[in-house]
Amino acid sequence: MSNEQAHSGIWVPAEIRHGKITPATFELLGEAVRLAAANADKVTAVLWGGGLDPLIGELGRAGADRVIAIEDSRFDVFRDELQAETLAGLTGKYRPAIMLLQAGSLGRALAPRVAALCHTGLTADCTGLAIDPASGALLQTRPAFGGSLLATIRTNGCFPQMATVRPGVMRRIAAAKTVPPEVVRESAPADRWNGLKTVLAGFGREADEPSFDGAGAIVSGGRGLNGEGFALLRRFAELSGAAVGASRAAVDANRIGYPHQVGQTGRTVRPGLYVAFGISGQIQHLAGMQNCEVLVAVNTDPEAPLMKLADLAVVGDAGDILRQMINQFQTDGEGK
Ligand SMILES: Cc1cc2nc3c(=O)[nH]c(=O)nc-3n(C[C@H](O)[C@H](O)[C@H](O)COP(=O)(O)OP(=O)(O)OC[C@H]3O[C@@H](n4cnc5c(N)ncnc54)[C@H](O)[C@@H]3O)c2cc1C
Repeated sequence: MSNEQAHSGIWVPAEIRHGKITPATFELLGEAVRLAAANADKVTAVLWGGGLDPLIGELGRAGADRVIAIEDSRFDVFRDELQAETLAGLTGKYRPAIMLLQAGSLGRALAPRVAALCHTGLTADCTGLAIDPASGALLQTRPAFGGSLLATIRTNGCFPQMATVRPGVMRRIAAAKTVPPEVVRESAPADRWNGLKTVLAGFGREADEPSFDGAGAIVSGGRGLNGEGFALLRRFAELSGAAVGASRAAVDANRIGYPHQVGQTGRTVRPGLYVAFGISGQIQHLAGMQNCEVLVAVNTDPEAPLMKLADLAVVGDAGDILRQMINQFQTDGEGK
């Protein structure tokens, strides 16, 4: 459909893991509320699964004006074909202007299917979204050419304008809404349940997967931290309650697993405190952590780019400094 006037509203299909709405869904709702203000538009969340009623209220408080609830416990497991077909069908019925999905495992499977079914475009892994004041179109910004430049993309004349955003990139809104959302009940096409090719039965954590969601502090190691240094980093994280991150160079050197990688091709994090040990601060690493509130860098080279950006730059050997920090923590602990 090419008539822009006929489409309105911003949709956020919610993701549920282990019975809870994911933090990234709330971040996308926050972004949708911000974008909707530019066009005086409404925000709709789409929710799937069984026992949805308590979750509907949460989506309303996080900014959804309307929730489309597809109450069916068969959707407690991920059925990407049917979810995509249902979402595409609802898109034809309600005609949203914009759809934002989480660039996690589920959203990355769902979004391209929905885009193909709707004959529209999709911009993956956006780091910035805005509404063009002249046309009302969604401006979708993402890193291109290995992160060396940022490209801003428009979906011309096709709807919905679709984008995925990685967890941690956007902010959830702090102000809770008190008016409950409008609730619309929908269902998947009944005749499509048989013969589905893919059903994802469960989602476990990867072995040694760090918990970055909501982490107050992350301590991260780079090429400047050797194998023994990473053992110290883990020990320090244990003592301090921080999560452990890493640069790609450290992951490539097998000092730690990929789930810990922070950056353009790893995770995007937004902790209160990010402490980088032996990380130079290349643009691809910054892409994943530059929104931290306080940055501390430890490096033997005071000229390293991350040292210039840091709120506190410590010149020294990363392993030595970790040893001192561990000793300090243990001494403080014994003194209590
Ligand atoms: C398409 C693409 C995607 C990428 N995605 C990512 C990504 O997601 N995440 C990511 O991190 N990178 C990514 N990279 C790689 C990125 O360009 C850098 O190569 C990488 O971030 C460098 O990691 P590093 O800072 O640990 O290593 P280096 O750049 O080698 O820096 C090591 C630092 O350690 C310091 N050092 C050395 N010895 C010590 C010591 N004893 N004590 C303290 N400091 C010391 C050095 O002075 C130096 O500053 C990507 C690259 C490309 C092309």
